[in-house]
Amino acid sequence: MSTDVIAKLKEMAADPDRVWITGGLTYAGLLAETGRLANALLSLGLRKGDRLLLQVEKCEAVLSLYLACLRAGVVFLPVNPGYTVAETAHFLTDAEPALAVADPERVAGLAALNARVMALPELLALAEGQGADFADPAHGPDDLAAILYTSGTTGRSKGVMLSRENLASNAEALVGLWRFTGGDVLLHALPVFHTHGLFVATNCVLYSGASMIFHRAFQPAAVLEALPRATVMMGVPTFYTRLLSDPGLTGEVCAGVRLFISGSAPLSPATHAEWKERTGHAILERYGMTETNMITSNPYQGARKAGTVGMPLPGVEVRIAGPEGVLPPGEAGAIEVRGPNVFKGYWRLPEKTAEEFREGWFVTGDMGAFDGEGYLSILGRAKDLVITGGLNVYPAEVEAALDDLPGVAASAVIGVPHPDFGEAVVACVVGSVEEAAVREALRERLAGFKIPKRVLVLEELPRNAMGKVQKAELRRAHAGLFSGG
Ligand code: AMP
Repeated sequence: MSTDVIAKLKEMAADPDRVWITGGLTYAGLLAETGRLANALLSLGLRKGDRLLLQVEKCEAVLSLYLACLRAGVVFLPVNPGYTVAETAHFLTDAEPALAVADPERVAGLAALNARVMALPELLALAEGQGADFADPAHGPDDLAAILYTSGTTGRSKGVMLSRENLASNAEALVGLWRFTGGDVLLHALPVFHTHGLFVATNCVLYSGASMIFHRAFQPAAVLEALPRATVMMGVPTFYTRLLSDPGLTGEVCAGVRLFISGSAPLSPATHAEWKERTGHAILERYGMTETNMITSNPYQGARKAGTVGMPLPGVEVRIAGPEGVLPPGEAGAIEVRGPNVFKGYWRLPEKTAEEFREGWFVTGDMGAFDGEGYLSILGRAKDLVITGGLNVYPAEVEAALDDLPGVAASAVIGVPHPDFGEAVVACVVGSVEEAAVREALRERLAGFKIPKRVLVLEELPRNAMGKVQKAELRRAHAGLFSGG
């Protein structure tokens, strides 16, 4: 069993000088703040197992509140502040939080939905008046720590139930693998309502007693200014592409950084290569999802292979399955996962949960293949697979070929209904390129059936807050391409 998050916090807080956030709280200060907040939650009537919904712009208090909820046994439920009141309504009715905490300007909207709402500054003020000592109740490893809603690009967003052990086991695995120590300084510019910024980044820092430079948003200029004081940066691929387009990114700026990590969306091999050339660093790409925490990572020492997400984390098992059973390396199939990292189910959806497990393995919905050296490549979401004239085309393979072409800044490959082929491969591309030339250039790299029937040059690709391309949106927008509709 792993060390619980709160036990770790207390261990780190025993050193009065240990800094949690540069220019902000020490660990001892953080422990006191979480104690005051936990007391405030109890004074508001919240009890173990109750849900607390939090919808605020990124700020340091989100992390304190996450830890305060863990201390009180209250289930932490952060929501993307970009969601409208109408979108947030689903989380309120589905999770029935005992309390919703929001930015002041959001309070009236949420209160109109019959929720009990409090403005964050009001909660912080209430906590000010509480004692810092908090009598932590006993917690079990399987107790719920958090519910994170899936981004829900298709259908209803589902609440992912994560246990304390899910978080703790993953933190311990990552700290070991990525060699975090108390001397590290993590540059934190990710959102904190998502597993990446909330759990991966924060818990790696906490479990090693490291510090973080906390940015409330990702701004390339501010990141470049802070990088010389950081030792690790975690980002989504768009962080890396945006930093690359800034002339201020140099090897010198990155000289003190020992590790750049990317995840949440595919990092193109072209970006990997360009980053290496500019800074001398090979970005370490890893793979995970809300339901499973982190699953695989490229090695700290040893080859970091561009276009792959590395090997399973210690304690985590990954298999590739086809309709007939488990597949050998080199063959593509469904990625399935088992281990202490895998979630406890979808909130109030036992049947949906059961559908997503096969023989005790969680079916991720991603397609992939291992190579002969045990590195996993992600070939795209199963639902994004394009079947054209009966042949399977994995979008990731075509996207990699496109990204390699001069002038292509980003690409997304989708399937669009086609009268002859069932589906046709269509490429959406950002960059200064021409359709005919792109199709011609791809002929040297890909079999004929994989060549996009159309290459659409767009201003930009629709992305969510984590930089993931919203393919459902592209499919909707271009559904009529071959039907004249
Ligand atoms: P989320 O639950 O929002 O974190 O989304 C998880 C999904 O993001 C996974 O199922 C993958 O489809 C995708 N994803 C995460 N990391 C990577 C990666 N390194 N490469 C490709 N896709 C990724």
